[in-house]
Amino acid sequence: MDTPIKGRFAPSPSGYLHLGNLLAMLLAWLDSRALGGAMVLRMEDLDPVRTRPEYARAIADDLAWLGLDWDEGYPDPAWCQSGRTALYDRAFRTLDDMGLVYPCWCSRAQRLAASAPHPGEPSYDGSCPCAHLTEAERTARIAAGRLPAWKVRVPRQTVTVSDGHYGPYAQDLVRDCGDFIIRRADGIYAYQLAVSVDDMAMGVTRVVRGRDLLSSAPRQAWLIRLLGGTPPAYCHLPLLTGAEGKLSKRLGSLSTQALRRDVTPQALAGHLAFLAGLLPAPEPVTPRELVGIFSWDKVPREDIPIDENTAGL
Ligand code: GLU
Repeated sequence: MDTPIKGRFAPSPSGYLHLGNLLAMLLAWLDSRALGGAMVLRMEDLDPVRTRPEYARAIADDLAWLGLDWDEGYPDPAWCQSGRTALYDRAFRTLDDMGLVYPCWCSRAQRLAASAPHPGEPSYDGSCPCAHLTEAERTARIAAGRLPAWKVRVPRQTVTVSDGHYGPYAQDLVRDCGDFIIRRADGIYAYQLAVSVDDMAMGVTRVVRGRDLLSSAPRQAWLIRLLGGTPPAYCHLPLLTGAEGKLSKRLGSLSTQALRRDVTPQALAGHLAFLAGLLPAPEPVTPRELVGIFSWDKVPREDIPIDENTAGL
């Protein structure tokens, strides 16, 4: 029997959704629905300092307002990463049993760069000095009281993912990615481990997200295979960009909360569809009406500049 098609929304509730997030959500939904697939809404709320329940509620409300539905997930806590630690613990132990995990005491700045889900990492290459500490040196550091982060050791291997929109994308894991953090020093599991475990455990077969995460796809596919799963198909999309590059959740003017005061959900869906190349001009439409005309061939590969003050609306 064929594996059922399942896409996902995987927002981090660290702020309100902005237009770029919504575009990714719309395309993830269209990609799955056009194939007759299901959708999952998973809240990536691992970091209690950066994420808040009220943002999670607002995100779910914004998706529903736009006309994007889901079959499983939020608000069930089992679909929020904060409720899934036992699964990450198990994956961590599996990797540790394979002899691939080691403690790392590199600086905080390096740790943050390596655990963030966005490019710019790694700040140092595969050969982290902590990988070469002797057992006695490790014991001495642990005794000195500084808590380590935990890294997984990557092999000399090139991993290629066939991105559904950008084509084959290869990384030499040692050169392009390096050993990476799977659990932070504060005990919180890192994005790369959590997202890989979840995509696998939730039966996600299609991952659609911004192309800033394309560089994470090979290591996620590698982790999923190592943990005994089959990687999903990946389709990355171009980013909406403002004067300072990729839109950020700090840009209040483009947050869905602000947009919702001025436009109808159909007008916004039509505008997003126009930006994504699915409509020749912005006109009111429901996401459901776009299912029949959705095709990745129409979506541009170059990033899409927009006016941050008006959102082009
Ligand atoms: N939670 C991540 C973010 O909002 C996206 C993770 C993913 O799609 O893999 O940036």
